[in-house]
Amino acid sequence: MARDYYEVLGVQRTASKEDIKKAFRQLARQLHPDVNKEPDAETRFKEVNEAYEVLSDDEKRERYDRFGTAGVNGPTGFPGGAAGFGGFEGIFEEFFNSFGGSRANASRRRGPRPGADRRVDVTVTFEESIFGVEREVEFERLQICETCAGNGATPGTQPVRCQQCSGTGEVRQVQQTFLGPMVQVGTCPRCNGRGETIASPCTTCRGSGRQRVKAELEVQIPPGVREGLQIQLRGQGDAGETSAPAGNLFVVVHVEEHEYFKRHDNDIILDININVAQAALGDKIVVPTVDGDVELILPPGTQNGKIFRLRGKGVPRLRTDGSNSGRGDQMVNIAVEIPGKLTDEQRELFEKLADTMGGAVTPQKTNKGLFDKVVDFFSGDQG
Ligand SMILES: [Zn+2]
Ligand SMILES: [Zn+2]
Repeated sequence: MARDYYEVLGVQRTASKEDIKKAFRQLARQLHPDVNKEPDAETRFKEVNEAYEVLSDDEKRERYDRFGTAGVNGPTGFPGGAAGFGGFEGIFEEFFNSFGGSRANASRRRGPRPGADRRVDVTVTFEESIFGVEREVEFERLQICETCAGNGATPGTQPVRCQQCSGTGEVRQVQQTFLGPMVQVGTCPRCNGRGETIASPCTTCRGSGRQRVKAELEVQIPPGVREGLQIQLRGQGDAGETSAPAGNLFVVVHVEEHEYFKRHDNDIILDININVAQAALGDKIVVPTVDGDVELILPPGTQNGKIFRLRGKGVPRLRTDGSNSGRGDQMVNIAVEIPGKLTDEQRELFEKLADTMGGAVTPQKTNKGLFDKVVDFFSGDQG
């Protein structure tokens, strides 16, 4: 007796397509006979496939909801009826994709192969990572051979159609599987999927149609990039075979460490030391920002650990569409430096000070959050 398809996938009757797909993938991974050696795994795997085939198809799902399995079982007894193996192909492709795509890719390799991706690393300074910069990058890639214009044959000759695959680039093989015979499509070993063979290969590229060259490119590094960010340049990788698309270039950005500035999300952190007199009496100090020096007013009684926020002096917020939406802030962390060595005059002054302050101590209250310590400071010239 067939189980309820929703029950098989463990989803509600109101489940969305996305939920059904998710449930299927998870179960397929658990139950695939290659990984699961339990005796009923294969049966359950078939059940899950069957349920998914029906529930992932709007029309079949509707018929199933109204008529049960009678609504979706064709004369062959397979869900999808006359569709036979054709109906299963989609499922298997999907399933193997979820395994990292190894088999799906293997079957897709027929025909001209697309070019491979390339990677190049670029190092920028901290300031460049904030404001963006244009960089010239140099890297190696395969380009269409200039001698043969990419067909791989000596100029004046032509490639001829492959005899083994009749120019299709693929060979078919019937394989027995637990679901019955399945047609496996593989790359033609003779022409390597190109569909043609070359009698007299081009000497520049040895028949590959592509040659290794040093490429130079101007790359726009956007403002706000982070260490490790990858910029994808479509079609700038290796050239593909004949009509296949080129691969992509990935520019991996590295950001140098700065002497003073650190980055935290879109804020820039700066630690500043002030002396006890500045802390007690207050002062007007100058602090560096990535936009240049800014005056900061320390109020009298500035405590150790106080944080001043300079609005809009941080990192531009990088958005995926390349536009930016404002900037983060610069946080100035104040540390009060206690002098380790005193001049005679300073010692005298501290002694006088000590007389006025006495020796009483007060325990510190717990739970003094960071929030109490942050003070917004408007530097006046932010955009
Ligand atoms: Zn060539
Ligand atoms: Zn062939």
